[in-house]
Amino acid sequence: RVLVGNLIGEDHVNYVLMYNMLTGIRIAVSRTQAKIKRPLTDEDFTARHKYSFDIIGNELTPSAKYDFKFKDYAPWVFRELREDYFHLDPADYLLSLTAKYILSELGSPGKSGSFFYFSRDYRFIIKTIHYSEHKYLRSILKQYHAHVKANPHTLLSRFYGLHRVKLPRGRKIHFVIMNNLFPAHKDVHETYDLKGSTIGRLYPEDKAQQNPRAVLKDLNWINRGKSLELGPEKRALLTEQLRRDSVFLKELWVMDYSLLVGIHNMRRGNRDNVRRNTLKVFSPDVPPFRRKATSIKGTSPEAVAMRRAMRESDLKHLGNNSIQLPEEDTGDRQHFIFYQDEGGLQATDEQNEPMDTVYYLGVIDILTPYSTLKKFEHFWKGMSADRHKISPVPPSEYADRFFSFMKAIMRGGEGGTRFKGE
Ligand code: ATP
Ligand code: CA
Ligand code: CA
Repeated sequence: RVLVGNLIGEDHVNYVLMYNMLTGIRIAVSRTQAKIKRPLTDEDFTARHKYSFDIIGNELTPSAKYDFKFKDYAPWVFRELREDYFHLDPADYLLSLTAKYILSELGSPGKSGSFFYFSRDYRFIIKTIHYSEHKYLRSILKQYHAHVKANPHTLLSRFYGLHRVKLPRGRKIHFVIMNNLFPAHKDVHETYDLKGSTIGRLYPEDKAQQNPRAVLKDLNWINRGKSLELGPEKRALLTEQLRRDSVFLKELWVMDYSLLVGIHNMRRGNRDNVRRNTLKVFSPDVPPFRRKATSIKGTSPEAVAMRRAMRESDLKHLGNNSIQLPEEDTGDRQHFIFYQDEGGLQATDEQNEPMDTVYYLGVIDILTPYSTLKKFEHFWKGMSADRHKISPVPPSEYADRFFSFMKAIMRGGEGGTRFKGE
């Protein structure tokens, strides 16, 4: 499928930022990637590499269209996460960082003010994050790394990189690169963002009828009588992983995360083609690699990956505002039990036989610690509503409530479709 979107020009408010982000990550990542892999040290977790870009260029950085500074955080840790635990192909990753991006189809960013950009193959998301989230991710990176290592099938967001761009007038923008839970080759017919809370967790049903892309919430799920149709085998696996992930989130003392659920109905297939005409495409035309692909010697996986990425980045066979979506699922997803069926988890009946729904599931937005701010929010909201149902309860309560809700929405789980909130 080739999709055609509206090309975003240099006059767009986010064009310069996008250009700088893509140029920075691509130079920083290829620099780390070109080195021989080595075991991690303690310093790797706190490391940061600085780059300075300008229109002239120097030995370390090619000339760029704009002046800006760039920081790459814990590059060796993220490299190990990507290659050893998230099974990313280094060339695919580099390539994605050289190419077009699509501005979030969610329209206006969430209340947090974050922007989302999708890579042209829809595999990667760049999310701008608040300074506090950035600081927090750095502070828990070691624990996150250990959790991912011990839990190859974790449902938590997969972080592939953490970076910062500093614009000349001093504005600093932090961002992460992470996995897109939703695949390029399947329409997602319904989307839910579930927290296990019922207060304020309703997307207006009349609006939902008009907007197939709406992100629905807990009360929509309950009112529509939905359940995750999973037979005993998958139900047990998913429950156990969710349990471990929520124990981990409880230890981190975070909250406000959700289980994102995308539902693809196989009978409906892809004919709605819901993405058409909604795309805003960035084609920032980042500077070419400094070296020619043939200048990279050797047969190590790193060298092979670099050469491939460099060659492919030179191919410009599609128009600037068109996006080629892959026809099938490729790459890393086959390694993960919850992302193995068409890139997701196919529904099964009580005999564990496949049914015609595929779920795309993951725990997102996991970088909000229970800060002073949240304590205040808790206090104020707690005056007017049932303390246990509102979102900002303390992290241990949040995690327990989250996990029981997710258990309850699985068919046959405790409560099953009978779950009706409190
Ligand atoms: P807020 O703090 O207001 O909830 P936010 O800016 O932190 O918002 P998220 O909660 O991370 O944003 O995500 C907002 C929406 O973006 C999600 O409900 C989901 O629709 C989409 N989204 C986020 N992360 C992913 C992902 N990894 N894959 C697919 N979609 C995602
Ligand atoms: Ca959120
Ligand atoms: Ca958030």
